[in-house]
Amino acid sequence: MKFNTKTIHGNQHHDPSTGAVMTPIYQTSTYAQKSPGDHKGFEYSRTGNPTRSALENMLASIENGQYGLAFGSGLAAIDAVIKLLNPGDEVISTNDLYGGTFRIFTKIFEKYGIKFHFIGMGNPSEIEKYINTNTKLIWVETPTNPMMNIIDIEAVSKIAKKNNLILAVDNTFATPYLQQPLDLGADIIMHSATKYLGGHSDVVMGALVVKDKELADKLYFIQNASGAVCGPMDSFLVLRGIKTLHVRVQRHCENGKAVAHFLANHPKVGKVYWPGFESHPNHEIAKKQMRDFGGMISFTTNGDKLEDAIKIVENLKIFTLAESLGGVESLSGHPASMTHASIPREERIKNGLVDSLIRLSVGIEDIDDLIADLDSALKLI
Ligand SMILES: *Cc1c(COP(=O)(O)O)cnc(C)c1O
Repeated sequence: MKFNTKTIHGNQHHDPSTGAVMTPIYQTSTYAQKSPGDHKGFEYSRTGNPTRSALENMLASIENGQYGLAFGSGLAAIDAVIKLLNPGDEVISTNDLYGGTFRIFTKIFEKYGIKFHFIGMGNPSEIEKYINTNTKLIWVETPTNPMMNIIDIEAVSKIAKKNNLILAVDNTFATPYLQQPLDLGADIIMHSATKYLGGHSDVVMGALVVKDKELADKLYFIQNASGAVCGPMDSFLVLRGIKTLHVRVQRHCENGKAVAHFLANHPKVGKVYWPGFESHPNHEIAKKQMRDFGGMISFTTNGDKLEDAIKIVENLKIFTLAESLGGVESLSGHPASMTHASIPREERIKNGLVDSLIRLSVGIEDIDDLIADLDSALKLI
């Protein structure tokens, strides 16, 4: 089965009790047993729920994995991965990282004796300098947020395999339509399903997908034992969202490309960060590991003035100023004062995250309206 067919039919079955074509929302916490232990595969909805199972099977299918796990949020999924580790273990992570991931690593797990190294992985051989006998996991995010850096997943996976490390990839920005990390040698894929998988900004959810049975069993144990599962209604919504993932992401990419080129040619714009430009430092790797370049773009204004960036995001009409990304509607964000405000100014400027940086999640509206919106806001500065 090819990708577009999988988003609709991947590992799905019509409901066995009624023949319902769409998976029903099994809004139940528990299941009748005939005799102790004699049941139809479900006992209690933290452990398993038929709507969640249908979604988990779908997740495995679209990521070319064997096992899918759905959680109450992306961070709950990350939490489960780090719980595979023990005190004293070390993790090597990308430095341009989703803020919440950085926070859970440093503010929650360092306290339990896990050590994190945050490094630039533009050149993967850098990773080897940080590997020692305590290293257990490599954490990669690509494209990164908000600087749109690209990391060579296949090259990192070779280093992971050589050193017997688990490689986890946060595939939220790319989605499995654009990039399939398990095929490139990753062991765990993580998603904030809140973003493109759900696709409609109406649910918060996380996901993991793996190939290996032993690793899946450990993660299922943590999912059930720690209990950060998602509910049946949310499972239904994300399952429905995934059915249009391929057509949505195609349009996100088309619109993203048009917006990136419009911004790059605009006199009031400084730098534009989008992996589709040939001038992007890792454009060749993006071309190799991604089908297209996505709808996430960051840009700065000419002169890099904070007040100019604020004026633009305040005056955009179709792009809503809001946290999050990946929904059908276009969003704008100002990382320096919103998602990345907790990072010290010198630290973020060193990584290119300057005061005027604006991040766009380009939606699937008419492209002419999106460009007119950006143009009229840019005219004001
Ligand atoms: C949003 C996001 C997360 C966190 O997911 P939640 O669903 O908000 O918990 C992790 N990684 C990336 C890249 C994200 O965009």
